[in-house]
Amino acid sequence: MTTTFADLGLSDSILKALEKTTLKMPSPIQVQAIPHIMAGKDLMGLAQTGTGKTAAFGLPLLHRILDLGHPPAPKTVRALILAPTRELVSQIADNLEIFTKGTAVKVAMVVGGASLFKQAEKLKRGADILVATPGRLIDLLERGDVSLHATGYLVLDEADHMLDMGFIHSLRKIAKHIPLKRQTLLFSATMPKDIEELAETYLQNPIKVQVAPPGKPVERIDQGVHYLPNGDKALVLKEYLLKHPGEQALVFGRTKHGSEKLMKLLVAWGFKAGSIHGNKSQNQRDRTLTEFRNAELDVLVATDVAARGIDIPGVRYVYNYDMPNVPENYVHRIGRTARAGKEGTSISFCAPAEMGELQAVEKLLKKTIPVLGGAPWAADVVAAAPKPGQNRGQRPGQGRGGQKAGSQPIQRAAPGKPGAKPQGKPKPAGGNFAPRRSEGAAKPRAAGNRTPR
Ligand code: AMP
Repeated sequence: MTTTFADLGLSDSILKALEKTTLKMPSPIQVQAIPHIMAGKDLMGLAQTGTGKTAAFGLPLLHRILDLGHPPAPKTVRALILAPTRELVSQIADNLEIFTKGTAVKVAMVVGGASLFKQAEKLKRGADILVATPGRLIDLLERGDVSLHATGYLVLDEADHMLDMGFIHSLRKIAKHIPLKRQTLLFSATMPKDIEELAETYLQNPIKVQVAPPGKPVERIDQGVHYLPNGDKALVLKEYLLKHPGEQALVFGRTKHGSEKLMKLLVAWGFKAGSIHGNKSQNQRDRTLTEFRNAELDVLVATDVAARGIDIPGVRYVYNYDMPNVPENYVHRIGRTARAGKEGTSISFCAPAEMGELQAVEKLLKKTIPVLGGAPWAADVVAAAPKPGQNRGQRPGQGRGGQKAGSQPIQRAAPGKPGAKPQGKPKPAGGNFAPRRSEGAAKPRAAGNRTPR
């Protein structure tokens, strides 16, 4: 028998609000999680963005807050939702606003890059639900603009990314402000050991629910890889974009600088392209995302951190212009396409120095990604490849003339060994992410500096 929202025990006013949304039947994570959350249990949800996890925790929280029937006291917060990026915070808040329409429930959000004064002003009245990035929340707590002494619910969303981004110290700091008698929910796309440790520290006898095994991308996504030098990537991307005019593409770059340069090149070539990365102000990022959502832009170039959790249903193609240095990010990246039952294609570009990353992705997927062009790089080519940051000689689009999209170019594997696997050690992953560390491990490098404020 199919479960309906009414079967999950949600109140009539929530069911009424749901009728006006696109949420007709609960998704698997909602079916599994909502009854436990309604029963007041701590919960650990292994689920990616796009599974409906925001409603999975948002609807029961709303139900319980509506039950209280009176507004929060000034400067207090009833339910705190922490998320790693400003984009994700605003997406969660937008989602909650849909469910709370027509109710007295007050949802507030605080993120860096926006006016602290305005956020403090808003919090003076108290919030039923506060969605926040850790850094800005700590600023407000330290200034005395908000208090968590009456917070009964804590949600840690995309917990694995929060740890990746070095937020463990911020989480510890914030947790100290929240009463121990609370309900804690943790959602994560992956469940490495440090997440289990985090859960042991902050959750009590949690119920565990899981919807899609980690590292298993949606079956519907067509995946392919081009083996090509860095200098050829832009031209191959250009060919693909020209082949699919008007279809939205998300292009992932490794660095802020590289992504910006690529975006400018695409614009110079006449594409309607924008970029989001850490060097852009919050306003610029919001504006670009809105333009992309409204299909005013066809191409969005993004870094992993900036694109984390964003939900844009129209994305038809994902290009891994640079391979991700954390294999799980490949799954997150390609999960941006094929949303809501639509078709999706993911095309990866693998330069010699990225062979280690590609192999890590294939190991995680437990399959080989079909080759669209080139051949796996031979060990000697991989060994001689410049490491990230050393390949500045070639600018995007200034390669050796380009490899045709979908063509089978120069065989670079060692003679007699087509497709030979490189034996060289994968190069160290540099770039956007701090290594994951567990509680009690050495201090993450300059963790505070990565807090988006
Ligand atoms: P999330 O995993 O929370 O980021 O959800 C991603 C998208 O799924 C959002 O655009 C939601 O509106 C949508 N969504 C969530 N729950 C459902 C549902 N039960 N049916 C259809 N769409 C849903």
